[in-house]
Amino acid sequence: MARSVISALSSAVPAPDDDREPIYVTRPELPPLEAFIPSLRKIWDSKILTNSGPFHQEFERKLCEYLGVKHIALFANCTIGLVTALQALRITGEVITTPYSFVATAHSLLWNGIKPVFVDIDPETFNLDPRRIEAAITPQTTAIMPVHCYGYPCDVERIQAIADNYGLKVIYDAAHAFAVKRQGTSVLAHGDLSVLSFHATKGFTTFEGGAIVCPDDKIRQRINHLKNFGFVDEVTVVAPGINGKMSEFNAALGLLQLEGIDKALAKRGAVDRRYRAGIADLPGIRCLKPPADARTNHSYFPILVEAGYPLTRDELYQKFRDHNIFVRRYFYPLISDFPMYRGLSSAAHDNLPVARRISGQVLCLPIYPDLTLKQVDRIVELLRPPKST
Ligand SMILES: *Cc1c(COP(=O)(O)O)cnc(C)c1O
Repeated sequence: MARSVISALSSAVPAPDDDREPIYVTRPELPPLEAFIPSLRKIWDSKILTNSGPFHQEFERKLCEYLGVKHIALFANCTIGLVTALQALRITGEVITTPYSFVATAHSLLWNGIKPVFVDIDPETFNLDPRRIEAAITPQTTAIMPVHCYGYPCDVERIQAIADNYGLKVIYDAAHAFAVKRQGTSVLAHGDLSVLSFHATKGFTTFEGGAIVCPDDKIRQRINHLKNFGFVDEVTVVAPGINGKMSEFNAALGLLQLEGIDKALAKRGAVDRRYRAGIADLPGIRCLKPPADARTNHSYFPILVEAGYPLTRDELYQKFRDHNIFVRRYFYPLISDFPMYRGLSSAAHDNLPVARRISGQVLCLPIYPDLTLKQVDRIVELLRPPKST
């Protein structure tokens, strides 16, 4: 108490390593403003603001190169990308998906009049558990929509094998999976389509933005029509499309962000290692381990607060907040517990014990390129249970 009075009275602006400085779960990495001005000048000179302009085209090309994928269709955001991906593949009926994700995953199904069927997650990867998918397939099932949660790759082979067996499409919500690789190749190359997010809170940002990764050129063309109202030329509209286009501003910024992404990923990696070293010996706190053959992007640092820890997850969450550290409970509540999903009656719906347990134990600690190792130490220090003497 006395301490907080003293810090309130002190007028100095806190430095990043000051232990009063609030720390948020993420903070966007931006290029120097001066570096962006020449791109803005080009946009102002050309007056081309959107509709697949030069920055848009160059960003699509460079993204394909960087990510090692065949085709990309840029979007205004990931959610409209997901809605459009489902339309492009003409998905209907029921889709099997995970309850342990951001609501947009399932919302994209409701926007298409599709019924989400929630299937439990794997206790190690937190991704859709392939062992439970088959039991949830009905004659109405047309697709599977898994999420590479925290950028940890799904079991893409087993999911594809089930999809092939039952003639289902696979659309990955890859909002967390920018630059993620598995056995040396992009995780985005799997499934029929993968949808990325470039939102401000994600590991790679264009302020708002997203993209569909697409292995097939014909589907890509269809996606490009759908994201532009269904226009194929000035007078022909082939589908009730939406406006999902990314603007030149976002594309120009994305090009600049690409130049700094490897450095940013390396800085995130250093934060990740510091956390793991600091948390290794803490009883009751478990770090998630990415699969050995994966290169992740360190966009999140989830921990589980287990029974051996002296505080509950929510008590620890509150303790962090009391110390100006804004950790987040990703993902709590489960999507299946939100009102628009609670009413979906299905046996699978009430059978989500793993997702429910993890959702009650998880806490995502701050991680971003400019988080200092000293700040990481301050966070780890708060995790140490008070010594009972
Ligand atoms: C952030 C996120 C989205 C939505 O992305 P937007 O670009 O904000 O629309 C979808 N799915 C998951 C898993 C996300 O984390």
